[in-house]
Amino acid sequence: MRQALDILQNLFGYPAFRGEQAQIIAQVAQGGSALVLMPTGGGKSLCFQIPALMRDGLAIVVSPLIALMQDQVAALTEQGIAAACLNSATEPEAQRRIALDARSGALKLLYVAPERMLTPRFLEFMAGLDISLFAIDEAHCVSQWGHDFRPEYQLLGVLAQRFPAVPRIALTATADPQTEADILHYLGLTDAPVFKSSFDRPNIFYQVIEKHEAKKQVLAYIQREHSGESGIVYCLSRKRVEEFAAWLAQNGITALPYHAGMSHEARDANQRRFLREDGVVMVATVAFGMGIDKPDVRFVAHVDLPKSPENFYQESGRAGRDGLPASSWLCYGLNDMVQLTQMILNSEMAQLQKQVELSKLDAMVAFCETAACRRQLILAHFGEAGQSCGHCDNCLHPPVTFDATLAVQKLLSCIWRVGQRYPASQVIDVLLGRSNAHVQQAGHDQLSTFGIGKEYSQRAWRSLVRQLVARKIVEVDVVRGQSLVLTESSRSILKGQEKIFLRPLADDSRAKAGSAEQ
Ligand code: ADP
Ligand code: ZN
Repeated sequence: MRQALDILQNLFGYPAFRGEQAQIIAQVAQGGSALVLMPTGGGKSLCFQIPALMRDGLAIVVSPLIALMQDQVAALTEQGIAAACLNSATEPEAQRRIALDARSGALKLLYVAPERMLTPRFLEFMAGLDISLFAIDEAHCVSQWGHDFRPEYQLLGVLAQRFPAVPRIALTATADPQTEADILHYLGLTDAPVFKSSFDRPNIFYQVIEKHEAKKQVLAYIQREHSGESGIVYCLSRKRVEEFAAWLAQNGITALPYHAGMSHEARDANQRRFLREDGVVMVATVAFGMGIDKPDVRFVAHVDLPKSPENFYQESGRAGRDGLPASSWLCYGLNDMVQLTQMILNSEMAQLQKQVELSKLDAMVAFCETAACRRQLILAHFGEAGQSCGHCDNCLHPPVTFDATLAVQKLLSCIWRVGQRYPASQVIDVLLGRSNAHVQQAGHDQLSTFGIGKEYSQRAWRSLVRQLVARKIVEVDVVRGQSLVLTESSRSILKGQEKIFLRPLADDSRAKAGSAEQ
């Protein structure tokens, strides 16, 4: 049997193992099972590829993404390793050849989609093979808490029952404690060791800013901090991708769009330029990035709020793979939260799934509004304790909180006075004493709260609303016109029983004009 290090050096061409790779490989090569929690780019693939080469028989790799399967098989084949994949696109003739090679022992690794693996025919086929191990990639798909739940993954527990002697290695880059527990449970790994790498990315500097004119803000950020460097700008929609790419290009930045609505050729061409040229900024939807391995991405900017901490971590984690300083910049406003909430509620998801998505969105908003270390918060989300990082925006410029009780009371009374039936924009107009058509029509210029909040700008009030939403002191009713509504916790503040401290509101001097979010 060839040794692990020998395979790593001579077949894969790397001098040494990274992190816990050596221990994981030893565990599986000796016939044990394992759960591997490792961030994207950490090197999970070798953890099952090397044991597959060390053990007799065929390794079966379950993977949900055809594109990633094909990439891995192509890379292995190039290194002279006998690997193949079976998916919905495989021709019958190729299928027959793969089956023959699997039986004869000519094949070392076979990648299969989970739904195919679970067909009675395939289970029967596997029963006749000498199987070295099962690798279950993207194992978080088993969990409803994951961001990518796939019901068929839960059925993979059948492998433990049918093939109790075959080692199983489950791998994922998602590591919140609930997902971890689900993987162990559904895949029958409760007795297996868990190898958890740190999710810390000490070379990434996190910053979050309040959105007012996202286009100008992201341009200023790139010019100020990353002029001439490679980066990714993530947008929520295809339309915004087009707009932001055009805007940045007009302003002298080599920016290219990437989204699923473009032709294959155009997307591939842009991706190639991003990978090969220096200083290209890819403006993309989240469709971009999976399997992209570019080490010197210096920044990842989000001009819209990501939908969960997992998504944010993955996307921002594409910066600084080379270990050199890199930055994550997120620009967020109340509308982002409202829009994402609406998307979740209007989606086809089951009720429970919607609740999970909403709670992840809450965690994301809390990340944006925190006054504490951002890295610490992200790591805590992945079940990891950590020190303050010393170089995120909050560590560098600790926000001084102030007693905002009076301002909060004004806002809450105003929400109450307008009957909890109006959106933030109108509530704020009333506070500022703006007698526009909407306000007059509703008779809100006659309210006792009309004009009681002139000491703050519109932006300051929006900042206050966001902080209260993040703390669940106010809610946005997205079903009924995005109205601001009071919650249980509003009451004690309104009664003056509780003081509330907030981060400073927006810089008033800059914001008198009170531009809206864009
Ligand atoms: P993951 O699946 O965890 O996202 P991959 O398995 O795709 O990560 O590995 C990410 C990159 O790191 C790949 O280019 C891989 O070849 C490389 N890599 C993995 N292990 C090592 C190692 N021990 N030394 C050097 N490079 C490695
Ligand atoms: Zn910090």
